[in-house]
Parts: sequence; C-alpha cells; structure tokens
Amino acid sequence: MTNLVQIGDHRRSSDSRTDESSGARPKRQRRPEWLRIRLATPEKYRQVQSLVNRLNLHTVCQEARCPNIYECWGEHGTATFMILGDVCTRRCGFCAVTSGRPPAGPDPDEPAHVAEAVAAMDLRHAVITSVDRDDLADGGAEHFAQTIRAVRHRSPSTTIEILTPDFLKCAPDALETVVAARPDVFNHNLETVPGLYPTVRPGARYFHSLRLLQRVKEIDPSIFTKSGIMVGLGEDRQSVAQVMDDMRAADVDFLTIGQYLQPTPKHHAVDRFVTPEEFAGYEKTAFGKGFLMVSATPLTRSSYHAGDDFARLRANREAKLANA
Ligand code: SF4
Repeated sequence: MTNLVQIGDHRRSSDSRTDESSGARPKRQRRPEWLRIRLATPEKYRQVQSLVNRLNLHTVCQEARCPNIYECWGEHGTATFMILGDVCTRRCGFCAVTSGRPPAGPDPDEPAHVAEAVAAMDLRHAVITSVDRDDLADGGAEHFAQTIRAVRHRSPSTTIEILTPDFLKCAPDALETVVAARPDVFNHNLETVPGLYPTVRPGARYFHSLRLLQRVKEIDPSIFTKSGIMVGLGEDRQSVAQVMDDMRAADVDFLTIGQYLQPTPKHHAVDRFVTPEEFAGYEKTAFGKGFLMVSATPLTRSSYHAGDDFARLRANREAKLANA
C-alpha cells in the first residue's frame, strides 16, 4: 500500500516549537510540500526488515526514524547498519537513538552478521555507522575495523563507507585502528554550526571533530572523507559558509546538508524549514569552495543515495586528477 503523507505523520511525534511570546505549549509546525514522502512497504522493504531481524542487526534507518526508509528499503533494497548496539552514551539534542548505559560490550558475531546482510542484499556500496560508545576504552574502533574486514572478505567488490563517532574520550590510536582497515569513505558528521553545539551536540567538540577528519587524510590520503550538517536548527548562512571553509581546510571531500526534523517533542525544535532553492544555493556555494561532491537537499542524509553519490565522488576525483 502506498500513501502520500507528511513525514512524521506515521509516528506519534511531530515538529513543534514553543511560542515564546505567549508562553503557550509548543505549536506544531506544518511541514512544507517538499517534505512529502511516499509511505510504502513493498516486498523489498519486508525482505530488508526480515533480514535485519533474523541477523539481530540494528539500522540507523529505524533507530533515527529516517524519513527516507520507505525509499531506501522499499525501492533500493539498501539500509545503513548501526553497530555496537542500540544504546548511545551521548545525549544529542537532535537524535532519536536511545541514550543511556549500554548493557553489554560489542557483540562478537556482529561483524559476520553485517557481512552476511551486505552479501544477501547484494550491496555494491555498504554504509556502516554506530552509536557512541564512550564506555569502551577504544570507543568501538576495533569493532569497526573487524566489521570492515568482515564485509570486505565476504564481498570484495563492495565499497565500504563508515560514519563514525568522534572517539573523543578514548585512546589516541583508536582512529588509526579504524583507518588501517581502509574503508573507502570515512564520514564523520559535524552535525551543525559551532554556535549551536551546546544545545544540539553538547557532548562533542567542534574542532575535535574537524581535526579527526583532517587526521584521516593525513594518515591515508586515498580514503575519501565526508561530513554533513543539518540546517533548520537556528543557524545562519554565514555560519554555514564558515563550516564549509573549515571542512575544506581539513581537506573534506564530500559535504552533505539536509533539513533537520524533530524526532519527538522532547528534541531540539525545528527553527524553520529551509527551501529547496536555499539548498541549491548551499550546493553551489559548496562546489565553489572546492568540495569534490555535495548533496544538499531537504531529504539529504549522510547515507541517502550513498552508492550513487560515491560513484560521482570517485569520478569527480579522477576528473580532477586528469585535469591537474
Ligand atoms: S537515508 Fe540512510 S538512514 Fe535514511 S533510510 Fe536511507 S539508508 Fe537508512
């Protein structure tokens, strides 16, 4: 069955913000036309769902209540695997993943299960992310590396993209452990402009995250680096342009920008809905600043169309090298 709905209408929560002038209860913001999606659960969607359940895997598509799940699972048969459990040790203001103390260490079978799922789904480009695990000495770095190796062993022609935490509170060699496993794309999101970190990303440090991305390139320049931000949280254009400059200074190759959507009324409110024209403006500005690849649309998420975008990213690098 296919329905055209507003994103979020299929769950209990809705975007809202406090009417500060009256002190009234949060008001629902009506979502614009460009954020309408198709809800569909065709056979392909159910196949992905049953595979994920059978292998006891988690996906960020479900945990973060991604609006693109019906397209990614149902039309493209793809998903983004979330390793290291489904409980995050951080409490970011934008994120729907459960926060708390994870009940256990990494599941030793998880790397093989992710590899089995990637093979069963016949993915040409696999995206793997995780919760933050500040409770682990290496932040889960070795588990990331094991998962990359397991996928590569099982599906040697599949390219691998990882979206990692910041490894802020763990051993300094954690990043090297992950990079040594040689993912094709190393993604770490800055999430928002630095001025909004205290409310949006309170457990993180903007310049630490930038430095992490820069270090990946220093350790292995052949790995593509990628980072993203959400807009509609209260940032201004100048701050977004500054983030782009900071990313380019850290040699980031690929920038993603998408509309923030409030997962529940307890999360950071949506400040406004950025128009598709403004997203097109951000994309143009970012390409002008030298990114090899940019995805800036209301529905852009780190892993949205990641396989097709990776092919463009690689082609753009080859073209740049050919013209150098
Ligand atoms: S955009 Fe990414 S997180 Fe969202 S459904 Fe698609 S693969 Fe999953």
